[in-house]
Amino acid sequence: MDLTQRPPYTSIDFKALAKKDASFKQAWQKCSGHLDFHDPVTVQTLSTAILAVDFGLSLSLPPDRLCPPIPNRWNYISWLQSLLDSTSPHYTTGYDPSRKVIGLDIGTGASAIYTMLCLKSRPGWTMCATDVDAKSFSSAARNLALNSLMTRTKLLQTMPDSPLIPLSALGVERLDFTICNPPFFIDVADMRASLGGESKTLKPNAVCTGAEVEMVCPGGDLGFVTRIVNESLVLREKVGWYSSLLGKLSSAKSIIEMLKQHGITNWAVGVIDTGSATKRWVVAWSFGDLRPSNVRPSLDWNFS
Ligand code: SAH
Repeated sequence: MDLTQRPPYTSIDFKALAKKDASFKQAWQKCSGHLDFHDPVTVQTLSTAILAVDFGLSLSLPPDRLCPPIPNRWNYISWLQSLLDSTSPHYTTGYDPSRKVIGLDIGTGASAIYTMLCLKSRPGWTMCATDVDAKSFSSAARNLALNSLMTRTKLLQTMPDSPLIPLSALGVERLDFTICNPPFFIDVADMRASLGGESKTLKPNAVCTGAEVEMVCPGGDLGFVTRIVNESLVLREKVGWYSSLLGKLSSAKSIIEMLKQHGITNWAVGVIDTGSATKRWVVAWSFGDLRPSNVRPSLDWNFS
């Protein structure tokens, strides 16, 4: 499979997946074609099958840590790859196999999902990955080892108040990009309200198996990404593209406003829409002057 140009997901063909993955086939037959996205085992079977069939990756997760929905995670990476490809310092337009790229996955989680997808789809890339949670950190290491990706990754366990982009602790001079799926919620009540659907119109369509450290941080997604913005104001061109997923459109808008206030004019925003009920937003910004073009469809240029 050529993963270097793999397009984003718009839907999943469950029938075709069941033909290629025995465990998923069992789950698919048992539910007579109506998958229960509130059942953690079903969700994990689905993610494991997509990773195996579409990416040739294995996944091992503790039961009490987040099981990543793969289409959502891949679509962010696909978007970021288009952004990087269209802003290459060598002025190439598409994927350039000879370009050496180094990225940082902030809060890699138990799955190390972004790191694994980046490394698997781009052979010339290397990754750094951090996490504050000991259990997720050791599980991330296990997944990287399981997929023989450890030699291309620098893993660093950080502390909650460590820099989110710890260049010197990682021993790197500069990075081409950062990628991040921050904890979305400001506290447990905020998380319950969102996931329980008490105050939101949109309910997530899949069960959330995340632990509190994965879901909650001071200021929620906006607080976490504000920290990245503040670090970027100091690091500037030491990172080519800073980026993060945001759980709420309002948070994405606030980040764009913040970038404008700091005089940062080179930014891009995208919608991560995998065809399910849950939409996410991704924002990237740069202190360099190479502006993105031809970014794949999930990029919404008319964002306002
Ligand atoms: N990247 C994974 C996990 C996202 S959950 C995925 O997309 O599925 C958010 C992750 O950020 C958790 O693993 C949590 O432990 C980690 N995290 C929380 N605060 C952090 C911090 N200050 N620095 C680094 N990671 C942090």
